Amino acid sequence: MSWMATGRYGVRTTDTGAVLVQELIGTRAVEDVPDLLAERESARAWWDESVRGWAAMRGVTVPAGALSDEDVAALRELRATFDALLARDGNAPAVAAGVTVTLALGDDGLVRPVPTGDGSRWLASALWSETLLAQQTDVWSRIKLCRNEDCRTAFYDSSRNRSGVWHDVTTCGNVANLRASRERKRRRSAVTD
Ligand SMILES: [Zn+2]
Repeated sequence: MSWMATGRYGVRTTDTGAVLVQELIGTRAVEDVPDLLAERESARAWWDESVRGWAAMRGVTVPAGALSDEDVAALRELRATFDALLARDGNAPAVAAGVTVTLALGDDGLVRPVPTGDGSRWLASALWSETLLAQQTDVWSRIKLCRNEDCRTAFYDSSRNRSGVWHDVTTCGNVANLRASRERKRRRSAVTD
């Protein structure tokens, strides 16, 4: 399945509900690809496609009511929070306070978290639930930010030894290699000059 935000960057996604976290990070602008959360109209379009797609996957109901400007600003904050979380640099954001979730028992006898609240609070509930679930499996450690500082999109590392660092080796990997080789050349010429 191709998702609206991550699909713009050809990002490999998890087939679990944690794709919601990837989709949130994927709304970010990279070069001339626009920020989907920059304004309400594009944020609503993303919500209607990606968030509803995720809800259908999980069998949960999206709350009625349109996203407000405050919601859109809160979505951008959530994105920054999850970016900081995925950076895994020892500075995990101190948030998630006040996020609530309901537990529901399905016909299959399995307990599932169901997000609560409206608008951005509902999405925060959904994102933290997916984070919790992904951290109980090996999914979370495979969701990474691309090492290219100009990209930092969230990709799913499906490599056997989890060694992936680029969302796309041929684009972001090459950009980095090119930069490193230019830097080496610059140093070499500085030495010989
Ligand atoms: Zn990348």
